[in-house]
This record gives sequence, structure tokens and C-alpha cells, in this order.
Amino acid sequence: TIARFFPRLNSHSVKAIRRFQTTASPLNSSETQTKYDTSKHRQRLVILGTGWGSYSVLKHIDKKLFDVIVISPRNHFLFTPLLCSTTVGTLEFRSIIEPIRNTGFRDEHHFQLAEAISLSPDEHTVVCRSILNNEEYLLKYDKLVIGVGAVSNTFGVPGVNENAFFLKEVADARMIRNQILKNFELAMQPDVTEDEQKRLLQFVIVGGGPTGVEFGAELYDFVKQDVTRLYVHERSKVSVTLIEARQILPSFDAKLRDFAERKMKQREQFRLVQSSVTEVHKDHVKLQHGTIMPCGLVVWSTGLAPRPFTASVDLPKNNNNQLVVDEFLRVKDSDGSIFAIGDCSFIEAHPYPCTAQVAEREGSYVAKSLGLLAQGKTSELQPFSWKNIGMLAYLGDYQGLADFPTSKLQGFKSWILWRSVYFTKLGSWRLRFQVPFDWMRTFIWGRDISQF
Ligand code: FAD
Repeated sequence: TIARFFPRLNSHSVKAIRRFQTTASPLNSSETQTKYDTSKHRQRLVILGTGWGSYSVLKHIDKKLFDVIVISPRNHFLFTPLLCSTTVGTLEFRSIIEPIRNTGFRDEHHFQLAEAISLSPDEHTVVCRSILNNEEYLLKYDKLVIGVGAVSNTFGVPGVNENAFFLKEVADARMIRNQILKNFELAMQPDVTEDEQKRLLQFVIVGGGPTGVEFGAELYDFVKQDVTRLYVHERSKVSVTLIEARQILPSFDAKLRDFAERKMKQREQFRLVQSSVTEVHKDHVKLQHGTIMPCGLVVWSTGLAPRPFTASVDLPKNNNNQLVVDEFLRVKDSDGSIFAIGDCSFIEAHPYPCTAQVAEREGSYVAKSLGLLAQGKTSELQPFSWKNIGMLAYLGDYQGLADFPTSKLQGFKSWILWRSVYFTKLGSWRLRFQVPFDWMRTFIWGRDISQF
């Protein structure tokens, strides 16, 4: 318990307490030894990724049964549901990430800052490329968990990769925040025409899923609570446009969707445009019927596409290039040593949505299954199943949506719920301290608009 709450105390107090427990209970100690005497023959488990799925495997796996090696280009876990809040400074970046090395590694080499680039299922090897020096190396595994997630889908629209921002990682949120602040400063330069000011302060969001809607909500709060105070003359030139070809928040209940749409349409300087973007340029986007919309920032959030690694591996995939797995989350047609979880995978028998909720549950399931397999208890294995516990979304201005299987809530109550649920879901006590602290700081002093 001490280690979980205060990881820094781990090396001192916890070891002392454990020593006391071992000497105080010789029976426990000998049991522990026999049970794990096979340490030299521990299987090597390689986990790809440090996202919702992989992090969940890492937290739940019995590290006495496996030598765990984690490969990821990111040395932290990111709490994505609150990522939008960092794009305008409601929360700080470090308040929603958890360093992977806090997660009980046997030694410091068991996390490697690298990306998997190819896989040989027959030889049980992964080729990895170091993020630090680009060196490639081969890693052998006994069991492999692929949890590399997905990237944003550009649908081949010209100019997206070059001119739009994605919102998947902390680095993306940091770039968006800097660009927003830069545009305000540019708009305040002498000799900038009014048209140019309007262009710089026209923020376009492409995609009306939860990420697009929540980013719009954060922008709205920023404009209402801070821009009004800090950029008094520029305020009237700001506008936010959400472009969606179909309906917004398609996975939510129709009544809640209508509520969200009504709220957005009521907002001054906020536009909901039903169209699709056909080209993205440095200073404008082109819509379906040729309309040109000048803008200073485009955030692209329209569905998922496979990572290059997932697309390249020679394993069974569906039409979206996701790895097809059986009900035990083992990659189809493999020898049972490869598991795939989260956004990069697709369960053939029950397709589940690509959400953090599903990925996290799949991760804990795989950790448990691997434990049973390692102990020879194959008869205890159960197929994977998942029950939707509900969805939440923030709409800005202290309004939210809560779509639970048994009840639907909207407005202020849902906003309270949104904050409470995410507060309790934060993975550690450090984050549970930092996030409310940031919320309070923003409420009292406003958002930090420093650019760096
Ligand atoms: P990810 O969490 O994306 O993790 C993938 C990991 O793989 C990363 O660590 C990455 O660095 C690593 N990786 C990438 N390539 C390689 C490689 N070649 N080799 C090794 N490692 C690699 N879901 C909800 O349920 N509720 C929400 O409120 C919600 N809000 C969201 C808000 C935002 C802004 C975003 C972007 C997503 C949100 N989601 C939400 C969706 C949720 O975050 C994803 O479904 C979830 O992250 C999927 O988990 P994953 O483990 O499959 O992938």
C-alpha cells in the first residue's frame, strides 16, 4: 500500500517492511520460494506500447512469473480522456501522464525507448528501433502483447499531414496550445488587417466525435473565461467551427446528441457546419462544395487508421487493417504466443468499440490469462467479455453528457459526474493530487498563456 501511494518510499520503508514480514512468517517465505523457484526459466513477455491496453497488462501481470520487457516510443502512460484539457491550459501536460518506470520493473533495462518495426512470428522475434539513436536490434519473446494503438485517419485528404494538427499525444497538445497562443500574439501585431486577424483566430475542428467536441468545449471555455480578460480587442474576432459530415457524437444516445447540438448552436462565435473537408492548406480549408474557409488552426480528429507497424506485420487483419484476434485475444492463425489488444485489434466474434475502457479491460484480461497459462491452469481460461459501463463527454461551460446503459444525464450534473469519474480513474495518487490542483488553479487564476 505504501509503495502504491508513495513510490519514492519504495526503496526504503517497503523493503524494510517486506523483510520484517518474511522473517516473521517462515511458512510464507518458503512457499514463496518454491512457487517461484523456476525464476531462471521465467518466460520472456514482450509488451509493445505504453497506452491503455499495454499499461494495463503491465500493472496486472505477475512479474514473478514473467521477465517483462516493454518497448515503446513513449516512456509514459497518457490519460487520454483529459488530453483536450491540456490544449488550452485547463490542465498541465505532466498532470495527466504517469512515468512507466514507476510501475515496478525488475531492473532498469526492462523498459526500452524504442519502436517495434517488424515481427517474425515463426522465429518469435521483434525488430526494434531505438528512438534515441535509431539503432535496430532483435528481441526474442516467448509471449508477445501488441498494444500499439492507432493513428488518426486522414482519409487521404490532401494537405492534412502537412497543415493540420492531430490530437493523440502530449506532443500534439503542446503544439496546438502553442499555435493558439501564437495566433493571438500575431493578431495583436501592429499593421495586421482585420481580415487577417479573423483568419488567425478562426479555429477549425474537423470531426464531431468525442475528441473534436471536447476540444471545441475547451476552446469555448478558454475564449469565455480567459480571452475575454486577456485579449479584450481580439475577443470579437475569435470563432470556432466544428465540421462534421454526418452527426456529432454518433456513439451517444439521440437525446443527448440533440442536447449537445443545441448547446453548440446557441453559442456565439461557435459554428457547427455539416460538410466534409476536401483540402487542407496552410491558411484555409476547402469544403465539399468548393467553399473556402480561411483559418489559423486546423485540428483533425476523424477516426482511426493503423500504425505503420500494424499495417506491415504479416498477421491476419480486417478491412481496417486491425489485427484479428479470437475470443481469448490471441492473434488468429498464430501459435498462441501473440496477443493483440486495444485500438490495433479486432475481436472477430464480438467487435467492441475502440475506447480506453475496452483497451484497459483487455489488458487486465491478457495479464490474467498469461498468469494462468504460465501456471498450467489452462482449464480456468474464460473467453474475453466486456460490458459497457457508460460514456461521458464534456461540452464546455460546465455542461456535460453521461450516457449509461440504465440512465441518460445532461447538463451540469453530468459535468460533475464527468470530473468525478475521471478523477477516480486517474491511475495514481500523484495524478489524483495534480489534476484537482490544476482545476482549482485554473478556476482561481485562469489559464497559463505563456508560450514556450
Ligand atoms: P494507445 O493508448 O494509443 O497506446 C498505444 C501505445 O503504443 C503508445 O504508448 C504508443 O507510443 C505505442 N506505440 C506506437 N507505435 C509503437 C510501435 N511501433 N512499437 C511499440 N509501441 C508503439 N476513450 C474512452 O474510453 N474514453 C474517453 O473519454 C476517451 N477520450 C479520448 C480523448 C482523446 C483526445 C483521444 C486521442 C482518445 C480518447 N479515447 C477515449 C480513446 C482511447 O484513448 C483509446 O481508445 C485508447 O488509448 C486505446 O488504447 P491502446 O492501448 O490501444 O492505444
